[in-house]
Amino acid sequence: MMIQDIFPAKLDNHYCADAVPDEDSYIFSFIGDELLYKITDSTKSISYPTLSDFVTLDLSDLVYLFKVDDRKYFLLLAQAYVSSEFSYHKMRELRNDYYLPKKDIFAAFTAYQLSEWYLVTKYCGKCGRINVNDKVERARVCPNCGNKIYPRINPAVIIGICDKETNRILLTKYRTGFAHNALVAGFTEIGETLEGTVERESMEEVGLKVKNIRYYKSQPWAVASDILMGYFCDVDGDKDITMDTGELKYAEWVAPEDIVLQPIEYSLTNEMMKLFKEKGYEGTL
Ligand SMILES: [Zn+2]
Repeated sequence: MMIQDIFPAKLDNHYCADAVPDEDSYIFSFIGDELLYKITDSTKSISYPTLSDFVTLDLSDLVYLFKVDDRKYFLLLAQAYVSSEFSYHKMRELRNDYYLPKKDIFAAFTAYQLSEWYLVTKYCGKCGRINVNDKVERARVCPNCGNKIYPRINPAVIIGICDKETNRILLTKYRTGFAHNALVAGFTEIGETLEGTVERESMEEVGLKVKNIRYYKSQPWAVASDILMGYFCDVDGDKDITMDTGELKYAEWVAPEDIVLQPIEYSLTNEMMKLFKEKGYEGTL
């Protein structure tokens, strides 16, 4: 189950400029990659603040984000005084062993992406004036020159390179940061098709030519404002790996039974590796 798989709950991100918070609306407040929430140790659970948890709060500092089922979620764009049970914690701790409904983990990451976008669109990039929120759609508008900015989503691909003959898939590990198994991946460049990104990244990261590129699934990945698109493909010709040692510390052909999955199930990468682990090459067709 990927992070966005919150069924039967449903994210409704239709923008509504004049939405007002209800008593049960959640209010997200970020400082960098830290989010304001309360940890209750007796129940090992996490909860987000609602209006009544704030000592002072100016409603004009709130921007409406989205709904999940019937609950509205807002973003606080300024500092406010909040009751002392709440404090700022790293976003990644949301995925640890404290209870929080999965829909609210997804909501927090989606809110984070929007919060970053509101931060970097404070000023008009053309004339430098302070932007305002559009009344109709989620966009920032310059009252001086009319420049309009929409939320930015960066396309990137996740690539499951397969060797049909030996029923193996190519796994990688990054040199820095994320420590677990991954797949070849990379951002789409301007002027490039997604299939072109698959071909280029396969060549750049592991020195392999690929063919039979086939789409699998996509995943919003809010931490980097990405939309990830997963592809499987087949190695074309020479199977010798030439690893980009600047980016990777490990790249090997691995059989289904030898695949070690990531410890947390939320990523498209992990789902693709799991599919190969369970069904082998046949599962990728
Ligand atoms: Zn402007």
